Amino acid sequence: MYTNQLCLKFDKDELTSVKENGKLKKLVEENMGVLNKLFRYRDSDFMKIEPVYSESKDVLHLMFVFSEGKFCLMSVDKRIFVEITISPKIQSVARDQFLVSISDSLSGEEIYQTSPIETGRQIIRKNLWLIPGYQMGIQPKEQTVAELVEKRTSSNLIIFFVFALMMIAVAFFAYRNIRKEIELAQIKSDFVSNVSHELRTPLALISMFAETFEMGRVKTEEKKNEYYKIISDETSRLSNIVNKILSFSQIEAGKRNYHFKEVDLNRLVQSVANTYKFHLGNKGFEFNFDKTDEKIFINADKEAISEAVINLIDNAVKYSGDSKMIRLRLTKRDNNAVIEVEDKGIGIPKDEQKKIFEKFYRASRGLIHDTKGTGLGLSLTKHIVDAHKGIIEVESEPGKGSTFRLIFPLK
Ligand code: ADP
Repeated sequence: MYTNQLCLKFDKDELTSVKENGKLKKLVEENMGVLNKLFRYRDSDFMKIEPVYSESKDVLHLMFVFSEGKFCLMSVDKRIFVEITISPKIQSVARDQFLVSISDSLSGEEIYQTSPIETGRQIIRKNLWLIPGYQMGIQPKEQTVAELVEKRTSSNLIIFFVFALMMIAVAFFAYRNIRKEIELAQIKSDFVSNVSHELRTPLALISMFAETFEMGRVKTEEKKNEYYKIISDETSRLSNIVNKILSFSQIEAGKRNYHFKEVDLNRLVQSVANTYKFHLGNKGFEFNFDKTDEKIFINADKEAISEAVINLIDNAVKYSGDSKMIRLRLTKRDNNAVIEVEDKGIGIPKDEQKKIFEKFYRASRGLIHDTKGTGLGLSLTKHIVDAHKGIIEVESEPGKGSTFRLIFPLK
């Protein structure tokens, strides 16, 4: 390969040491503008190689600065440079998709081809900046340039839309998470005010009636009994709320333990029904317990199952409005035990039915506004049911009532 190199020290404006080769020295002198530009690039930490124009048709002169104050002018045979240095690069870029040629711009003579260019199909030609006088032609294999552009455009568009969709999805999830956080903060603050209210009311009543007794103002036995009952009712309401909060905090801390044993559900539900019968009767409710003669045994924590059923009965009482009818039912269905609590109360709109099992959640419409609660009862019940590998279901229609169903696998 024909190469001739001249690597020299460049002293400011003077080419003092360019002595060795008169021809190259002349070339450098003719291209001082290019050389100065390359030095300026070098000062900005940018290295570039520039072709230097000369009269020779076959020799390519390349100039570059390689360290401070030093540059190199290299002369190479254009054809050999194309064959040895440029062609492997072109091969690897073109792969099987393009036909690439390098030709002389003036004579049109082909210097190099990846494979023969097909005549009659469009070919794009551009001058090679590195090798003045030569041009490169590109022709896509098997496709026209327009087809290739169309294909590239459509694949780019697809990538763009997929990317845009991903961005929209990310924005949507971020928005949903932020909205959930805000809702949770709101729900927690409602919870604090609900609980404070729930605690204040029974405490105020208990203290008022206790003071009345203390001052000896209650004269008749009948009044005394009435006030004792109020104090006892309010005390159990207080302990009910405190128990719910304790139970909830145990669950949140992951410290709630269940003690599983074989449990006779007939007996358990019957005992809850007995406890509530009198209480509900006093409140003016018609209360029925539909039991079954079949023996129903499940593997369960007795206390927890009672708690779950009591929560459902408490809710049925709270959300019954004027239709005071509650039905408790125990049945065996397939391989499951089913406990149902049905009321004819205010019901729950469809869109709220999934949310009511979330902690702190309280439905926000109608009568519920006036009904006290913490929003914990159903989330506790669901936790208990889940721990027993059971299912909790609700069927409800606003204005007609609700049926909550606890389904447990039989032992
Ligand atoms: P709380 O009753 O303390 O508000 P729960 O977790 O027990 O909390 O219930 C969550 C919500 O579900 C209640 O606020 C109420 O809107 C609704 N709900 C629960 N049980 C019933 C029911 N039997 N009838 C109508 N709505 C109910």
